[in-house]
Amino acid sequence: MMKAEIIAVGSELLTPDRLDTNSLFLTEELNKLGVEILRKTIVGDDRELLSKAFRDALNRVPLIISSGGLGPTEDDLTRETVADLLGRRLKLNEAILDAIKARFRSFNRQMPDINVRQAMVPEGAEALNNTRGTAPGLWIEDGGHMIALLPGPPRELKPMFLEEVLRRVARSVSTVRMFHRELRVTGLGESAVDQRIQPVYKRFTDVNTTVLASPGEIQIHLRMWTDDAKLAQKHFAEIEQGFELALTDRIFSRDGSSLEEVVARLLTLNGATISAAESCTGGLLAQRLTSIAGSSSYFLGGVVCYSNEMKTAWADVPKELIEAKGAVSPEVAVALAEGIRRHVGSTLGVGITGIAGPGGGSEEKPVGTVHIAVASGGETKARAVRFMGDRDMIRLQASQLALDLVRVHFLYNGSAKRG
Ligand code: ATP
Ligand code: MG
Repeated sequence: MMKAEIIAVGSELLTPDRLDTNSLFLTEELNKLGVEILRKTIVGDDRELLSKAFRDALNRVPLIISSGGLGPTEDDLTRETVADLLGRRLKLNEAILDAIKARFRSFNRQMPDINVRQAMVPEGAEALNNTRGTAPGLWIEDGGHMIALLPGPPRELKPMFLEEVLRRVARSVSTVRMFHRELRVTGLGESAVDQRIQPVYKRFTDVNTTVLASPGEIQIHLRMWTDDAKLAQKHFAEIEQGFELALTDRIFSRDGSSLEEVVARLLTLNGATISAAESCTGGLLAQRLTSIAGSSSYFLGGVVCYSNEMKTAWADVPKELIEAKGAVSPEVAVALAEGIRRHVGSTLGVGITGIAGPGGGSEEKPVGTVHIAVASGGETKARAVRFMGDRDMIRLQASQLALDLVRVHFLYNGSAKRG
């Protein structure tokens, strides 16, 4: 909520004869805009005191509205005092001077010389049109502050406030802010994602959509600048719905959480536990699963079984199976997953075997070939993939796919809770 102060200028307001009513009007109007008035100051026509009143208010709030002291006489000091305080020179504004002269002419009078003062405008200030009197008001923006200097007479101040000040304040009060939604997708490339979702986001011209690729996942950012939270939520919901149709189950996160966080949540929610037998990822899956606080409730343990002997010793992979199919094979991935699950006694077991490179590839099993399996007691799900990129990329993508297979297990397990 924006905070403001009102300064009522005029020695007459310090006498029993005159009451400051302008501030009541200003307070009501500003409150309607959502501006809170923190303080009202009444100050006489005294340069020192007036300067101090403005200086203090500037130290407290971003918006100051003053009334009075804009007249042509010696005791009208607001214009000069504020210009001084802000270090701005006063410059004669010919257009205002002409308007004042014309006003006097319309009353068949000549403008007295002292009225020239009312055509003086501090550098960088905007004159506020006065439809009922001679003195224009002034609007000054200064280092994040907004200052409106308005004339004292209520019949001048009120229309000027409504016609000139209101919209200037509203501009800054407006609660326009950025709404942001991040969706994360895995298992699809950047261009594939963009191609699928383009028809959806193209329809929402007031929402900015950015597709960012990082290893193993694509992030889709939705950004909208508005003061209408409901509209933003509505647009985001419609876009999400469209994206969901376009990307089916590839969206794993709608709140910016990582895949391991999503999997951790699913495991916890379902009271499920997990174990892993990793070859080419060297423990990366276990590392990611245990990077989250509280992981001991679902991650029971895992082994890095790099050699064939250890696959047999630690994950019960039959020696003959490895000899027959090769260590990098769907059969061995399945055996790793089932073996570690049985060994550990967890709800789920994950097996990963592959060729991270750069060496070790063959025509039949090129670098990037990875087999991943998830055992759950029912049918063990296995996936064969060929990842692109260097060793690190291949290992990261393998761990990403393994996590995603666990996520998908819960997605299509009819009895699973999904949060
Ligand atoms: P003017 O050109 O009329 O001198 P001004 O901007 O210099 O305008 P002041 O001289 O301070 O204003 O005040 C002019 C008259 O406006 C006051 O005599 C008073 O009747 C009225 N007035 C000033 N301030 C207030 C106020 N805060 N509340 C109500 N009336 C006010
Ligand atoms: Mg006056």
